[in-house]
Amino acid sequence: MEFFDRVAELFAEAWLYNFTFDLGRYLVAAPIAFLLIHTLCRPFFIQRRIQARQAGAADIRRELRVSVIAALVFSTVGVAVFAGIQAGVVKAYSSATIDPLTIALGFVASVIGHDAYFYWTHRAMHHPRLFRLVHRAHHRSRAPTAFAAYAFGPLEAVVQSLYLPLFLLVVPLDSVTIFLFLTHMIVRNAIGHSGHEWFPSGMVGSRWFGWITAVTHHDLHHEHGGANYGLYFTWWDRWMGTEHPDYRQRFDAVTQPDRGPPVIAVPVEAKS
Ligand SMILES: [Zn+2]
Ligand SMILES: [Zn+2]
Repeated sequence: MEFFDRVAELFAEAWLYNFTFDLGRYLVAAPIAFLLIHTLCRPFFIQRRIQARQAGAADIRRELRVSVIAALVFSTVGVAVFAGIQAGVVKAYSSATIDPLTIALGFVASVIGHDAYFYWTHRAMHHPRLFRLVHRAHHRSRAPTAFAAYAFGPLEAVVQSLYLPLFLLVVPLDSVTIFLFLTHMIVRNAIGHSGHEWFPSGMVGSRWFGWITAVTHHDLHHEHGGANYGLYFTWWDRWMGTEHPDYRQRFDAVTQPDRGPPVIAVPVEAKS
């Protein structure tokens, strides 16, 4: 009995540790992005609002509520990963034995892998049979704010949280790389849902940087669905023909100095 009590205690500790980190990174990144837009850097961002539609206080409260529930799911999956590492099923290097090059390669591989995983699971979630059950909670934010960064329904939160353990089954990562991957993910998610364009003008049409998704990319997805399923990169949407036809034009309009009021883009036919 004492053994089971000790196991339960260990799992409770691991769960609390995970939950603190999962919710903590959201509660740092989302408010910082929000405050930068609406207070510290307001003169810059006021010209860069993407949609004419604007989220209200009730939307932000909903995004916060749904994100906290998603963090509960993330931490539960995180405990399963912890148990997997303890049991030797999920591989992880000790951070004492790794070097900067290993960290850099692991980080790049995990981000590229995540972009592919996100694109295909996201497209699947837009299938009419799955959308309502899995992905609808996220799309209740037509004009998202940074607080929508983790606003996933419970089933979608499970899908999102499964990427890392699946990746770890194939490529072992150390704790520093996992920390960098998770930090990059929340920063890109908070910025990507902030409703304002952060990237420099000319980026989308650039031969050198056009492969990085601007905020307008995912914002157009929230506005209409049916296009722009990618997360960090434009590759999959371009290869699969699912990039919103107005993406570049819309980005250029948003990043133009002294532009007119924000516009609502033309809806596109959904590809599920
Ligand atoms: Zn989103
Ligand atoms: Zn979607």
